[in-house]
Amino acid sequence: MTARLHVDLDALEANIARVRATVSPAELMLVVKDDAYGHGLEPVVRAASGAGVVWFGAFDVRTACAVREAVGEDARIFAWIAASRGDLEAAVAARIDLGVGDADLLEEIADAARDAGSRVRVHLKIDTGLHRNGVRPEQWPGFVSRAAALHSEGVIDVVGIWSHIAEASDAEDDEARGVYEWALAEAEAVGLRRMTRHLAASAASFARPEFRYDMVRVGAFCYGIRSAGGPSADDLGLRPIGTLHADVVEVAGQYVRVDLGWLHGLPSSLRLRSSVGTPAGSRQLIDIGRSDSLVASWPGAGAGDTVAIYGPGAAGEVSATDLAELIGTIGEEIALRVSPLVERRYTRR
Ligand SMILES: *Cc1c(COP(=O)(O)O)cnc(C)c1O
Repeated sequence: MTARLHVDLDALEANIARVRATVSPAELMLVVKDDAYGHGLEPVVRAASGAGVVWFGAFDVRTACAVREAVGEDARIFAWIAASRGDLEAAVAARIDLGVGDADLLEEIADAARDAGSRVRVHLKIDTGLHRNGVRPEQWPGFVSRAAALHSEGVIDVVGIWSHIAEASDAEDDEARGVYEWALAEAEAVGLRRMTRHLAASAASFARPEFRYDMVRVGAFCYGIRSAGGPSADDLGLRPIGTLHADVVEVAGQYVRVDLGWLHGLPSSLRLRSSVGTPAGSRQLIDIGRSDSLVASWPGAGAGDTVAIYGPGAAGEVSATDLAELIGTIGEEIALRVSPLVERRYTRR
């Protein structure tokens, strides 16, 4: 199998610079969950760290520990899913900042911190309406008092207040921000001061300055993946960092066969809907099989020619989000589906 995902680390650095310039003075937390959105965790975090990124958003503790291994002691690494006691112990040992959206989890973290004899940094999460792992407003005042008590006891160090928003409609996001503001005031009232406040992900961090607070948690835009239905990457000043290439293995009449199929993550629903970049420009994707696909041929096509399923550089270029829009999903989904069977190759200056 010759298909490969080319990851342009210079483009990653340029996107990071663009995001930082846009959100400044708010800080960037680079979100690297799901193997850095399919681009490969370790090369991405190393390049980002080299470009001065200090904060990494890891989702789970395993990823957080892998980031710690890759970038060393100075990075701040945030994980917001801790599934087990073993996870908590690993997080404490690796000095991971933990997102906490549950009163029981807060006590478990305090226990793990006492046992380890070290103070754990936590960020308290208010549920602002997404109903995904956050403390409900009616429980928030009790939750922040308890956190403040554990903070005074020296078991935990409450360093942040955060939430996650849908970024689907401005009205809903405004409502969520109202709840978030209230939650900040409640935390302040129980003595939790100088908290790092973080609420926005990619879309809101660019479009809604009032959502930036002290830090933004950005994944998609750093990888050059624009929002479905949103502004173009060009308008945002971003470049996709990943290009999915496959080689022609056979020319068969009016079609060429390329060795990339649904087994490797190409959604079969793209059949007859999308085009790919070829040496002669854009050509339709005719069929998607298990491990190979058919593309409409072009004059002079031959085995060994390369097509770009998505990503910059090819004639007839489409982006991951362009494909996503054809089948009613988001660009991240296209990037995440690229199988681990597909080799990742990294380029930089
Ligand atoms: C995935 C995620 C982000 C980043 O979202 P993007 O839209 O990719 O920037 C931020 N915060 C949380 C909690 C997430 O799960």
